[in-house]
Amino acid sequence: MSQLFARACRSIPGGVNSPVRAFASVPGDPVFIDRGKGSKIVSSEGREYLDLCMSWGPLILGHADPEVVQAVSRRAQDGLSFGACHSQEVELAEAILEGFPWAERVRTVSSGTEAVMTAARLARAATGRSLLVKFNGGYHGHSDGFLVKAGSGLATQAIANSAGVPEAIAACTRVLEFDDLQAARVLFAAEGSDIAAVVIEPMPANNGLLIQRREFLQGLRSLCDEYGALLIFDEVISGFRLRFGGIGPLYGVRPDLVTLGKIIGGGLPMGALLGAAALMDLLAPVGPVYQAGTLSGNPLSVAAGLATLKQLKEGSVYRILEQRAERFQSQLEVKKLLGLQVVRMGSIVWLYCSDGAIPTAADQVDGGISERFGPLHQRLLSGGYYLPPSAFEVCFLSKAHSDEDLTGFVDALVAASA
Ligand SMILES: *Cc1c(COP(=O)(O)O)cnc(C)c1O
Repeated sequence: MSQLFARACRSIPGGVNSPVRAFASVPGDPVFIDRGKGSKIVSSEGREYLDLCMSWGPLILGHADPEVVQAVSRRAQDGLSFGACHSQEVELAEAILEGFPWAERVRTVSSGTEAVMTAARLARAATGRSLLVKFNGGYHGHSDGFLVKAGSGLATQAIANSAGVPEAIAACTRVLEFDDLQAARVLFAAEGSDIAAVVIEPMPANNGLLIQRREFLQGLRSLCDEYGALLIFDEVISGFRLRFGGIGPLYGVRPDLVTLGKIIGGGLPMGALLGAAALMDLLAPVGPVYQAGTLSGNPLSVAAGLATLKQLKEGSVYRILEQRAERFQSQLEVKKLLGLQVVRMGSIVWLYCSDGAIPTAADQVDGGISERFGPLHQRLLSGGYYLPPSAFEVCFLSKAHSDEDLTGFVDALVAASA
């Protein structure tokens, strides 16, 4: 164990401030990162890595993008936080809403967790109902109602998958499999009048990348309409990742509420929820749904978010990302590696360590992927490639990932798979 990690373990539970950073399912210990620039990070031991984790998604422009860094440093000179209104938060709200022309209001918070938590409360207030529906393998942050999985008995009955979540709270969540509209119909037929909202990542990217069919998302939209429930798209990852805004238009589906995070904070803490005025104005101080935050809309996060969205809006980032990611995928596919497939949507890449069919639901994922991914992760790491330390996590590419970076990564994958 490195000295630093041993020291970290003495003062921080497990040595990490978020459990996904632990090397729980891959060999070795967490790498401590000292600095990052573009597509590269450098460890505290001075080793350089090509970063394929990219802070789990926010850094679509790469590490320390000059424009983002400049915006944040300038802003910092003038005070870090006021706990009062400032003009840039209005600019950010307008910039976010440009990506969602159907929506009228957006409230920013400090994390994706808070965004989804607030959206759920809002949906319950708007409908006067208590049940939430989520999907097996969907991640919506770590608030109590979402830390649940499908129970073993009744498929949809949720049980907590964290200690400390009261049964009474888990009992207000129902869990379905992705891509199973029939199960959703059955659930709505039984409990539709108690369902406040269906919460779904329209492009589930927290249990591998489980790309959904258009008909499935459209079917959920119809069910929600039929039973008067709200449809919440959790776009904390997908928001501004594939296009400027959400991915509803790619599926021909308009949700009632959208939650955002990651990219809109440009690497600093940020989350948001948005929707029509009639719904969003239920939030305090206009309406009865309480939500607040000492550092909500804080000037630094807002500056980073604005600088990021500005580039995404004006530039050709999405086109470039798609071209490079597509080239990476085809280069890798030509190699026909055994036990490794690429599942990709834009700049989100899942290395699926299986030769089986590409899954669309968590229960279809090959049970052997962790075992195969562990050694691959270890070899790539020692070759200078930093991947998220789990077979179930996706890789993120950024504007800073060059064709050379990605060709090198293809070669490293070939070597590591041999
Ligand atoms: C990351 C994530 C969250 C939680 O966001 P935090 O900022 O980590 O609280 C919620 N939903 C989805 C889809 C996410 O990927």
